[in-house]
Amino acid sequence: MSSERSWLLAGNWKMHHGPAATAAYFNAFLRLTPPHPSRELLLFPPTLALPAAAQASSARSDVAIGVQNLHWESQGAFTGEVSAHMAREAGARWALVGHSERRHLFGESDEETRLKLEAAAEAGLHPVLCVGETIAERRAGEAEAVVRRQLTAALAGGRPSTRLAVAYEPVWAIGTGETATPDDAAQMHRAIAAELRRLLGEARVPVLYGGSVKPDNARELLQRPEIDGVLVGGASLDPASFAEICKAVP
Ligand code: PEP
Repeated sequence: MSSERSWLLAGNWKMHHGPAATAAYFNAFLRLTPPHPSRELLLFPPTLALPAAAQASSARSDVAIGVQNLHWESQGAFTGEVSAHMAREAGARWALVGHSERRHLFGESDEETRLKLEAAAEAGLHPVLCVGETIAERRAGEAEAVVRRQLTAALAGGRPSTRLAVAYEPVWAIGTGETATPDDAAQMHRAIAAELRRLLGEARVPVLYGGSVKPDNARELLQRPEIDGVLVGGASLDPASFAEICKAVP
């Protein structure tokens, strides 16, 4: 069943699961999700649970851990913040940057997203750059322009020295139960791929879809040639539900 294609399946736990719950999660999830040649699994636990996640997944080369947020400075008087180097030391190999909850709940700008992306890469982390339009921007016909602006701003420094993935996450689909149709998602993914070629040259960057992905809609999304994986929030919190999504790789 393996193919030339490979998929990235990422779970963003947001502010759920402390260290003890993380160890229990991996115990269940890894048993349900054996290694598969055409998929990589990424889990983004809360920062405090990074060591527990890294330890619990250390025997699995197909599983990597990421940090949900970081500060762009490497150290300093920034109470409550964590640097990319610290996240890496705690076991992270990937970093989410520009998640819509960071942009819209915490007011993070395109410029701060760029700083975070560059700090992540400088520390050896692979960024997952999240982009996506609000419902008002979509209704105004601005969806592609907004996403192009977010990509251009975050990648102004050029291709990161580490691996890069982009996640298209329409804000109106995150945590709402609404999903972009596979056709709408595929259309935006083509626009993102074209913009990435313009900004970074020919090398292929995986583009994931995120926004209310569930076991019952994952297969249809992952079958589309433009969709290289999924970034899953709510449905990744339960190991059985995320394992079902991971099995949806064609
Ligand atoms: C997310 O947090 O990135 C996300 C896509 O959430 P949900 O799957 O719950 O919509």
